[in-house]
Amino acid sequence: MTPEQTKIPEMPNSQGKMFPWRCPECGKKAVQSATLQHTSQIKHDGRLFTVEIPWLRVPQCGACGELVFDNDADEQIAQALREHLGLLSGDQIRKNRDDLGLSQRVLAEHLGVALETISRWENGALTQTQAMDRYLCVYFGVPAARAALVGQFGSSHLGVQAET
Ligand SMILES: [Zn+2]
Repeated sequence: MTPEQTKIPEMPNSQGKMFPWRCPECGKKAVQSATLQHTSQIKHDGRLFTVEIPWLRVPQCGACGELVFDNDADEQIAQALREHLGLLSGDQIRKNRDDLGLSQRVLAEHLGVALETISRWENGALTQTQAMDRYLCVYFGVPAARAALVGQFGSSHLGVQAET
């Protein structure tokens, strides 16, 4: 008598990485990775923007056509919105900060925002408002503006003497 190997290894689908997924709309296990043109309506900063994304990677149900947005798709959409609005990308914010030799904490202090906010701008989890983007551009691009903020709100983190 030979032992039969009938046990089916479990699919590691808890991370949602193995296709096909079950469609939340029609229930069929037919959701596969797809690339398609997509028009997104995105609410940002109290306004609604329409953004065209020519090559959006997004899981789609082959049976009913439902799009199943995942983190990857959300990031692409957020990135498209940044481009649409002409906002600094997370990488650009990080590079500008690095060029000035500032830690996220010191930049947060100068700008008057939370440390977490800087971190989320840089990793793309949060899209800065247009007003905040202009503020960033002034801070990074205009030494006199930076000096004023450092003078007023800087601290010993930078080794700058705030007072005369
Ligand atoms: Zn479906």
